Order: sequence, then C-alpha cells, then structure tokens
Amino acid sequence: MKITERKRHSPWIDVTFTTIVIILTLVAGFLTFLSIKSNAVIETNVNSSPSIIPTKVETIESNYPGIKIVTETSNDSYTPFAIQYPQSIHSTFNEKITFYVNNAKQNYLNTMQNNMLLGLKSAGELNISFETFPHYSGNYSFVMVVANNYGSVRGMTEIRSFHLNPISGEAIEIQDIFYHDQKRLELVSESVRSLLFNDPALKNVLFLEEANINTEPVWENFNNFAITNDEIIFYFPELKLAPQSAGMPITAVPLREIDKVLANSYRDLEIMNSPISNKTDSEPIEDNKITETPPPKNDTTESVENSVESTKNEMKQVALTFDDGPDPMVTTQILETLKKYEAKATFFMLGSRVEYYPEIAKKVKDDGHELGNHTWNHSDLTKASNEKVQSEINRTSSIIEDVTGVKATAFRPPYGAVNKTVRSQTVLPVYLWDVDTLDWKHRNANQLLASVQNKTKNGSIILMHDIHQSTADGLDAVLSYLQSEGFEFVSVSDLN
Ligand code: ZN
Repeated sequence: MKITERKRHSPWIDVTFTTIVIILTLVAGFLTFLSIKSNAVIETNVNSSPSIIPTKVETIESNYPGIKIVTETSNDSYTPFAIQYPQSIHSTFNEKITFYVNNAKQNYLNTMQNNMLLGLKSAGELNISFETFPHYSGNYSFVMVVANNYGSVRGMTEIRSFHLNPISGEAIEIQDIFYHDQKRLELVSESVRSLLFNDPALKNVLFLEEANINTEPVWENFNNFAITNDEIIFYFPELKLAPQSAGMPITAVPLREIDKVLANSYRDLEIMNSPISNKTDSEPIEDNKITETPPPKNDTTESVENSVESTKNEMKQVALTFDDGPDPMVTTQILETLKKYEAKATFFMLGSRVEYYPEIAKKVKDDGHELGNHTWNHSDLTKASNEKVQSEINRTSSIIEDVTGVKATAFRPPYGAVNKTVRSQTVLPVYLWDVDTLDWKHRNANQLLASVQNKTKNGSIILMHDIHQSTADGLDAVLSYLQSEGFEFVSVSDLN
C-alpha cells in the first residue's frame, strides 16, 4: 500500500520539487550575479539603484584654463574611495582618463568583493589623485597616482601620466620630446641612470640590475613623465627598482642638462634661441648663457634716458617689468601680490603664450597694468630678416589687442638684443632695464629681494619673469621693501 501510494505520487512530487529547486538556484545565482555586477558598474548608475554604493560626483573648474576637475567620493564603510581626475573639452583625452580611472576603481571593488566572500572584514581604501604640470608649449602633463589598500593587504601605488594641449586636443608622447630619435634617448637614459644611482634616498637599496633594465633606452621605459619649463620628470614602477619601502623611484632631469637632445618646442625658453649657447656647444650652457643681460653700450641709451631722475617729482618711482608670460599660475599669483600693494607694472608678453592663455592676458589688462610686446616666439631679432622681425612684432601686437581689447604700448626685444634695424621695424618705444634680478638663473624666492636691494634707484626698470614660481613667491618681499623705501610702482611708460 505504502509502496503503491509512493509509486502513484512520487513522479509528481519529484518532478515538481526538482523543478522548484532548479528555478530557485537559477534565481539565486542570477541575483548574486546582478549584485556583483551592479557594484562593478556603479559608475554609470550612481543614483539609480538603492542597493549600490552611494557616490558623490562633483565637477569644478581648475586653475588651469580648459581643465575641469571631477571628484568622486564614497563613504561606504567597506569600500570607501576618493577619486579625482581631469577632464577637458576633448573626448579622446576624457575617454582615456575615465577608462583608466574606472579600471582602477573596478579592480578595487572586485578585490574587496572577493575579500568579503572570503570573510575578510577590514575596510579597504582607494585614493586616486593627480598633479598638473604646465609647459609653455601649451602642453599639460597630468600625473595620476592610484593608491589603494585592500583591508589587511597593502596594495601598490601606481603612477600613470597623461598629456594634453587643451587648445589643440593633441597629446604628446615621450618620442615627440626627443625627435623620435633613439640616439637622443640614449643620452636621456644616461642622465636618468646617473641621477637614480646618485639619489641619496635610493642609495644602498637600489636593485642595480633591475634599475639598469628599467632605464634601458627603449621608449616604453620612459612613458610615464611630466614636462615643465625647467625639467622633465620620469616615474618608474614601485618595487621594480627598489623595495617598496623606498617608495616610487622618480627622477627630475633639468632641461638645460639635456638641451642638445630636446625637440625645439620643449627646450628651456631662456636657452632657446640664445645667441651665445648656440655658438659654443662644447661648453656648459650655464657658463656662457647671457640671456637678457644688458645689451651693448650703444643700445643702453634708451634705458638710461628712461632712468633719468625726475627733478620735478618728489616721489621716487620704479617700474616693475615681467617678461615671457602670461602663465596661468605664476602670472595670476603676481597679479594678486601687485594688487595688495596697489602697484602697476608692465608685462612684456610672448604672442604665442597670449594665444594659449588669453584669459590670463585679459586679467593683466583688467587689473590696469601696461601690456608690452616681447615678440611671438622669443627670437633674437638682430639675427632675423626684416620680414621675420615684422611678423614677430606685429603678430604679437595683434593678438594682444584681439584678446584684451587694448593695444600693446611698449616693446622689449628678447635677450635685450636690439639694433637700429630692429628699432626701425616698430613704432613702439623700446624699453630695456637697469636692474636684472637674474630670477631665471637662481630660481630662488629668497634671492629675488637681494638682487633688487642696493641696485634700485629712482627711475629704475626692474627685469623679472612671470614664468618662474620662485619669482611669484619672492615678489611680496620685494614690494614690501621698495614701498618702505618710498618707491611708487608705475608702468615703464609712466616713468617720469
Ligand atoms: Zn624674455
């Protein structure tokens, strides 16, 4: 009876039961899959589902024209993160950055998900930050730093560089800086090795063989870099060249040290076109560089004329002049300091930089300073044809007027190099200087004041450059000193 009954009912019960179990398993599996997946694609569904990690996304303007900063943060107790990255108006660049960031974030979330399944309870941490290095060519180097730890397991720090000209959308590669020339890279490799091997922080811990392999002159070894007006910085992978405790191996090669191998657009602006350094290649550039030193005697008359002390005016006057800008960071900071002392100055701008930073040029004008012409590309005009001189000066005057709405009212030739022929090519008054701060050379904020003290007298024209951070940093002390000495700050054209 029992058996009969079982025989009668069991096929039904078995089939139904098995089907239910299979369906439930599938549903459970599918739900698990969904929940893992939703964590992984949190990026695209930030607010659409309550089950995923809440992420706060914010976009703000950066200090660099054309660059926005996106911040994504999560306060999730198990998988917190803080992520910052740059974005521009160029989609190719934006996609490259977001792809990199999303990948890093997904790796972190997946690893933490696995940890949770393994019963590991400690919270993780992900930090993605970046630093921006502007170069006068218009290129920005963005150095992204990804640092994470997976609860009890310390993760690696990774550095990746990205490059963008925010106007053209172009992204330079390491090959562009060295003319795609293997021979040039060999010299760079030598410089990097010598810096690495002599780095006190890496002394005794450097893995010699590994360090040699990772600095061999192949382009891939030098892919992670940032270029500034003064140096090129190379980043090497953590743990590859030295133990993790030594941190990330970084070398900064001064551009003047590798000037010979640099493509023209990336050479130090002050060395570039320097009439002397081109002549004698065998000697160190530093020793025979005479950029912007006072010109030959017959050319100084003008600045002397401008320096003649006024007998009528009791107030002592001084003209502060800033060459080679505008620069988004340095010029902006200098404007703030000038405002603090209600000082008026003259900015001798390069047309090529006004083209890159029109907003900064406009700010200079809006603050009431005098706009000066310093040629388009910082050429030595005494070595140029009349046509070239004309175009260097006229192009610059045009863009200054286009961008700011006012005309440049003063001219300063690069390197102070001027002769009758050059003068005959422009109606603008030519201004040189009598106090050279040599700020391009010492790059030392504390030394700026020392170079102004003693040398400045009534009617002096002081030469500085608004492309060096040290000049912006040292300016406050200079203004404070000159003000206490009874000087009034005027533009070169307003000197009595
Ligand atoms: Zn200059």
